[in-house]
Amino acid sequence: MGDKASVAGMAGVAVPAAGLSDSAESDVRTVHSVAHVSDSAESDIQTGMNASHVSDSPESDIQGADVQGAGGQPLTRAQIHVGEPAGEPLLDAVDLVAGYIPGVNILNGASLTLHEGEIVGIIGPNGAGKSTLLKSLFGLVHIHSGKLLLKGEDITNLRADKLVSRGVGFVPQTENVFPSLTIAENMHMGAFQAPKLFDERFDYVCSIFPKLGQRKNQLAGQLSGGERQMVAMARALMMKPSVLLLDEPSAGLSPMLQDETFIRVRQVNKAGVSVVIVEQNARRCLQICDRGYVLDQGRNAYSGKGRDLMNDPKVVSLYLGNLEEEVQEEGR
Ligand code: ADP
Ligand code: MG
Repeated sequence: MGDKASVAGMAGVAVPAAGLSDSAESDVRTVHSVAHVSDSAESDIQTGMNASHVSDSPESDIQGADVQGAGGQPLTRAQIHVGEPAGEPLLDAVDLVAGYIPGVNILNGASLTLHEGEIVGIIGPNGAGKSTLLKSLFGLVHIHSGKLLLKGEDITNLRADKLVSRGVGFVPQTENVFPSLTIAENMHMGAFQAPKLFDERFDYVCSIFPKLGQRKNQLAGQLSGGERQMVAMARALMMKPSVLLLDEPSAGLSPMLQDETFIRVRQVNKAGVSVVIVEQNARRCLQICDRGYVLDQGRNAYSGKGRDLMNDPKVVSLYLGNLEEEVQEEGR
């Protein structure tokens, strides 16, 4: 599966990117400074049907129909997508049920919307189905029921290469660059569906990540982990996607490089690309997100604006508390 995801991810993305302002870099806030959060205790975060179950066994990998009885009423669409902007979403995933093996569902009715210009985060414990959700958005995991719409058009179970030509890009978590190829060659791989547009697209990605142009002849395998993530994102951007799906771009990086990665995600977003980002690094992710979804056991457990989620006591104790301790540990 990893291979399939990686290869498909190589296919890159596509969207009408808004012009990147000259000052895009200057007004990218670091994730530290983004952390300011209002004192207001008011939160419109909605509790999911599954939360109490989760608190008992946050590491649980119980999957499938047996979690149906976790309790509570199904959430309304408004509750699931609390805080979303008005209008039709760019991407609309509705009640997705999906899995790898017939009869074993990993997603048990997961929903998500992404509106033009947004960064939307998916967080949740290990094994919650975050990567599976992302892969199902990119045609890599079969959707058994539910529907997926892109700009109002049904794209449920459309193949990854078709999605790329419609403006969806995907960066898998691992094996997302060709290490034995140069940066420029990696960019060629990203633009293989539109080779004639290579020069224009390369200029475009260099306008977002100027380092790429300066180092275009360097082998991707010689780059640092953070730089490789930049190459992986850039490769997907060669198709100028409108939607970019990122699976744990900060995984395995030092805290400083993680910060750089989140800043890059914001740069990409400022260039006009709407982003869905899956992260284990939940707190830092929520700092840059407009909205976030907490996924647990293949379902929406909580959702809200990024900073509301960061401040919600239940979300903190269930999903962010431990992570915060881990981050503090790292910093020692
Ligand atoms: P997360 O990204 O939230 O950590 P995943 O979506 O990777 O979780 O995994 C969710 C569940 O799906 C786990 O129980 C995992 O074992 C299972 N899973 C992931 N990939 C595969 C696969 N290729 N085949 C079968 N099961 C898988
Ligand atoms: Mg994952």
